Amino acid sequence: MRIVSIINASSSSGFCHGQNFSYDGDQGPLHWGEEYHSCIGKYQSPINIEEHNVKNVSLSPLRLIGIDNPYQSYVTNTGHTVMLKTNESKAATLSGGPLQDNYVFEQLHFHWGENDYEGSEDLVNNHSFPMEMHAVFYKEDYKSFNEALNHSDGLAILAYLYEVSPQPNPAYEPIVRVLRDIEVMGKRKALQEPLLLESLFVPDIAKMQDYFTYFGSLTTPPCLEVARWIDFKDRQQLSHEQLAAFRDLQTPEGDKLTHNFRPVQPLEDRVVFHNIPKEQNTLSNTHHSDGHSGQRNVKIPILFVALGALVAIFLFAI
Ligand SMILES: [Zn+2]
Repeated sequence: MRIVSIINASSSSGFCHGQNFSYDGDQGPLHWGEEYHSCIGKYQSPINIEEHNVKNVSLSPLRLIGIDNPYQSYVTNTGHTVMLKTNESKAATLSGGPLQDNYVFEQLHFHWGENDYEGSEDLVNNHSFPMEMHAVFYKEDYKSFNEALNHSDGLAILAYLYEVSPQPNPAYEPIVRVLRDIEVMGKRKALQEPLLLESLFVPDIAKMQDYFTYFGSLTTPPCLEVARWIDFKDRQQLSHEQLAAFRDLQTPEGDKLTHNFRPVQPLEDRVVFHNIPKEQNTLSNTHHSDGHSGQRNVKIPILFVALGALVAIFLFAI
């Protein structure tokens, strides 16, 4: 089984150093660290994001450039996920927010579960979602995805969480439609029409600046700790049928890839930041920018009211 999983048609994906793994059994996530030492590192992904334990910040706007061009794209079954890449030489770029530099789009892919109640990698307040999409960007200065993997600021990854809805989401239909053609590992298929990355990356521009961000790792071997994660709070919608189509893809062994999410890892001493868009933050700016969490901010005014009441009682008493 090991030999089969090493032979992989998607070596150009950049994740080629880490193809020898699975989501179950003796090659499952609990054993990744035996072969890939970074997988037992201190700053691993995914994590559980506790909303009461984030640090509120207001960063400069996140910017996505070049996503309104229609790109010729193709999807590949890597044996571990469905990966989408574009054929264009001028790739989309990401900058702003927590990023110091420009990042270039490399690929996007999905994580899902056996049913509609689990499948996301990051959790929010211990809640799992049926799917998560990762859009992977590498730092432009490093020239290539593979070189970027050697640097702690090498990657920026946009993460999108999904909910089940009664209606199919038309933005994902071009991808879902070709899944049946790539059920076997290594199969690759061009999308029938050019893809607008904007429809996937910015489903609602009004909610684009509302996200969590933290430092972590690739969620698959070799688990390198090189990623600035940006997890959007806005949820996207997919129908049960659209989600189910992903579960028909096959693993390197020819089994159904019913789930491909890694369990959450310890946060350790990391801080998860919550970006609050500036315009929403003007009223309570002094509280948000002083480094207290959202919960503390609520407590401070209550404390003042309580103190005021005590002083009033004291004055009446004398
Ligand atoms: Zn991923």
